[in-house]
Amino acid sequence: MTYLAIPIKVESAAVAQDLIAQAAQAGADIIELRLDYLTIPTADAVRQVVAEARQTGCKVLATCRADWEGGSFKGSEKGRNAILKQAVRAGADYVDIESACRADGEIQIESILGKTETKLIRSNHDFNELPGDWDKRLARLAQQQPDIAKIAYKANKITDCFAALDWLHSQQQQKHSAIAMAMGEAGTITRLLAKKLGAFLTFASLGDEQATAPGQVTAKDIRQLYRFDAVNAQTKLFGVVACPVGHSMSPAIHNAAFAETDFDGLYVPLLVAPHFSEFQGMIHAFCRRQWLHLRGLSVTIPHKENALRYLQTINGKIDSLAAKIGAVNTMIFSENGEVSGCNTDYPGALKAIMDGAKMGQGDFKGLPTAIFGAGGVARALVVGLTDLGANVTIYNRTAEKAEKLAAEFGCEAAPLEAIGDLDAKLIINCTSLGMTPNTNQCCVGAEAIKPGMIVFDTVYNPLQTQLLNYARAAGAVAIDGLTMFVNQAALQFELFTGQNAPTDIMRQVVLERL
Ligand code: NAP
Repeated sequence: MTYLAIPIKVESAAVAQDLIAQAAQAGADIIELRLDYLTIPTADAVRQVVAEARQTGCKVLATCRADWEGGSFKGSEKGRNAILKQAVRAGADYVDIESACRADGEIQIESILGKTETKLIRSNHDFNELPGDWDKRLARLAQQQPDIAKIAYKANKITDCFAALDWLHSQQQQKHSAIAMAMGEAGTITRLLAKKLGAFLTFASLGDEQATAPGQVTAKDIRQLYRFDAVNAQTKLFGVVACPVGHSMSPAIHNAAFAETDFDGLYVPLLVAPHFSEFQGMIHAFCRRQWLHLRGLSVTIPHKENALRYLQTINGKIDSLAAKIGAVNTMIFSENGEVSGCNTDYPGALKAIMDGAKMGQGDFKGLPTAIFGAGGVARALVVGLTDLGANVTIYNRTAEKAEKLAAEFGCEAAPLEAIGDLDAKLIINCTSLGMTPNTNQCCVGAEAIKPGMIVFDTVYNPLQTQLLNYARAAGAVAIDGLTMFVNQAALQFELFTGQNAPTDIMRQVVLERL
């Protein structure tokens, strides 16, 4: 059993009352009372707040973290002893005491615990980095033989997480109770995988204000978005590799789809710095740990080229269109260690156009097509549509980029000023024009859109762009970018799980988040 622990900054018994109720309501199994935040740490206040937390039916963890270990308590060790002793006498189920000691005053563990049933957590923290004396810290914890051993440190890069994951895995195998987490955004997976690896608990916050460590996920997200109740030791792991990753809607879409189809999977955000070496290091680290059951990754900016390069390096299987596009957005990891990659952006876009305009693949042959933009998305569509025989003209702000792309795939390039001569049946916007907050921008004027044209805008925020408004007003077919976005995620889901994607739920999740 892995508990969900919600920490509360106890500034006073009165303030804590409401927060304790909120924590219980948010689904806490354990309420951690951070008594080091008490402005006036009286025995009465400690007793009152522990009693309040016990009344919720949640288990109670008392912590009074010293400032020399990253906490807020600035008083003497004698004062800390008294607070912790009071919390234990008031009925705290667990007490957290630092593994390290300050030279000028040992914390009196035996006196704090007395003859109570309270369980002891010994913890150590590094708020800057993965500690260089990692082995020494673990040896000290092992020697102290607490009921539960805890280690927390800041992850500065994704690969820093594996020290915590390895230790949790080893503790799980030895049936030792342990807590390990890497703080910071790069460390998020250690919090989300705690249950899979049988950790004693994982911390989640009530909200950003109540977070007691950087990178703490909210209790609501960990329970609802990250499937806390469904995760188990065999749960298959998936994720999105990006930098930045915080804005990504992929965890919400894929986890909702897993929940809807009862698929035993968890989809996590992976913040990976842009360089190829970081990407490669992260993949190697996962592949060496089959017990993490990594089965699939979505890959996005700035890693799509890195994913292709990685697959080329290991002689992995690469879908021919993805190789031609020069970008992989989906990686699949099989149980027997094979890694393959493809690109679902283009098929997702093609399906959006075909469904929206009721076209078959053969209808693209010779179709006059104008593509605005010459970036990553434009490239995927140029490759795919020229492959189907469309007559593509590329319009781009930076003319040289359009010319280079056109030359590579045997199509035309035209400067943006030539839009007046636009004579296309299919118009596709692959620029960021019209995207929030610049919603009044558009790659063409209203007069360029004629009845019967097919207009596809890859921008999906907002859903109804200026370009699509012009299209509807002119009697053209208007296809939104959300359909492409959902289609590419649905194709990934099918590759990840071998099941049909619940596209309605996936679309609904994005709409709610937009
Ligand atoms: P990208 O590689 O950065 O390319 C951006 C393109 O937009 C370039 O051609 C750029 O022209 C052009 N551009 C940017 N600002 C402009 C401006 N003010 N005026 C004229 N042109 C401008 O980006 P990307 O990855 O291809 O993404 C492009 C768009 O696709 C995104 O903005 C997003 O809305 C959309 N998208 C949709 C999905 C989906 O699933 N629906 C997925 C990904 C992206 P220059 O070459 O002159 O810089």
